[in-house]
Amino acid sequence: MMRIAVGGFQHETNTFAPSKADFAAFAQADSWPALQRGAALLDAFTGMNIPVAGFIEAARAKGHTLVPLVWCSATPSAHVTEDAFERISAMLIDDLIGAGDLDAVYLDLHGAMVTEHFEDGEGELLRRVRAAVGPKIPVVVSLDLHANVTAEMVAHSDALIAYRTYPHVDMAETGARAAAHLDAIFAGLPRQSKALRKIGYLIPLTSQCTLTEPAAHIYGDLQKLDGAVLGNGRVSSISFATGFPPADVKDCSPSIIAYADSEAAAAEAADRIAADVLASESRFREKLWSAREAVAYAVANSAANGGPIILADTQDNPGAGGNGDTVGVLRELLAQKAERAALGVLFDPESAAQAAAAGVGARVKLKLGAKTGGADEEPIDGEFEVVRITDGEFLATGPFYGGSRMSLGTTARLRSGGVEVVVASRKAQCADQEMLKHIGIDPARLATLVVKSSVHFRADFGPLAREVLVVESPGPNIADLARLPYRHLRPGTRVMPLGAAFKG
Ligand SMILES: [Zn+2]
Repeated sequence: MMRIAVGGFQHETNTFAPSKADFAAFAQADSWPALQRGAALLDAFTGMNIPVAGFIEAARAKGHTLVPLVWCSATPSAHVTEDAFERISAMLIDDLIGAGDLDAVYLDLHGAMVTEHFEDGEGELLRRVRAAVGPKIPVVVSLDLHANVTAEMVAHSDALIAYRTYPHVDMAETGARAAAHLDAIFAGLPRQSKALRKIGYLIPLTSQCTLTEPAAHIYGDLQKLDGAVLGNGRVSSISFATGFPPADVKDCSPSIIAYADSEAAAAEAADRIAADVLASESRFREKLWSAREAVAYAVANSAANGGPIILADTQDNPGAGGNGDTVGVLRELLAQKAERAALGVLFDPESAAQAAAAGVGARVKLKLGAKTGGADEEPIDGEFEVVRITDGEFLATGPFYGGSRMSLGTTARLRSGGVEVVVASRKAQCADQEMLKHIGIDPARLATLVVKSSVHFRADFGPLAREVLVVESPGPNIADLARLPYRHLRPGTRVMPLGAAFKG
């Protein structure tokens, strides 16, 4: 039985987004739990689709003793403040030093954290962790599929193990895979050779989906390399992180990380997947619709049954740094008089409070959305019927958020003509049917559904969808990466598949 320290520090940084992540953003709950520290950490995640939950469950099943450090996450946004990074890192390192004799460390990290003072947040954190525990203690890390992996992260850890699904339905499973990797180390796995390959082009989030090609077959091939013997070495772990493109940092790119008994085997495994990714470049391109064109298409093609046409309002996705409050698609739904249409979830605490004060059945004049000012937009000035009000507390039931308790604050269901809007007091990516159902909207009965999400919605809403259109409407998660004002990418990186190379 081993003693394993367990912690986490998750942030996905969109360096182009409007607001930063301060300490309070990590301290509070959002769609994931609030900051956890001490013994309570070990029971805070039970049953949730979160890496640390899967790790704890798997490690406990093996009878290991777990030593809690600190775990926290914040909704994706611009940079993590220096204050937040330093305070949370200090907690983690203090807890690690106070943990006594350890056999291993497990960390639940994202891999695309940029702070005000470090381009590579995880690389710096892992450097400090390694310095605290010394060279011999295994440090195993689970990463998001959107990690922008760096050589420093690889150097300062024994293994980086990334999710293999987007929508991320395997987060807890990835934590369990990290636990299994540690068990292999405890059982005498020889010190592993490492290979890191950085891909020379960025992949837009919406075409990274692993349910569709070409990512589907790449992850299929990747899985076959688990445990494969290549020449004189066995592959113990291989990951393909498709990367988080709205991050203006040198190491922004898709990455492959392989571990094997021999250098040649690690290199061969990583090179095979890299070749596959390069050969698939043209297939990672995808059509982007304007809001007007997408709504017109959805209105013209709405059917009495057969499920909604889903418009992914990807650029305002709160899961990628958006504020969830732009109204470009909503304005088109109203202007084109869409019927049986709904939008989830618009972030506008002021309007939610006004609607709640007016009460169910009232008609309220609102300036709806577009309040945080990230996009160059005016709120929608209009009158809405208050259909229902909730406290925004409910249990997510879909495969992505499944098991998490949502806390969206005062939430209002508003209606204007055939268009309904779910307005919440906290930002949340619309990736679970309960976000609509808890307030009485059945997404299966809609003709048109707009979600503030890029891909995660596909896990729960995908089976309902007649069709999915990716829409380019205001928001900081720019889908056409060629439009982003990059300054720090690695020179030569193609900013879109088959796109122009960044010159530096
Ligand atoms: Zn992700």
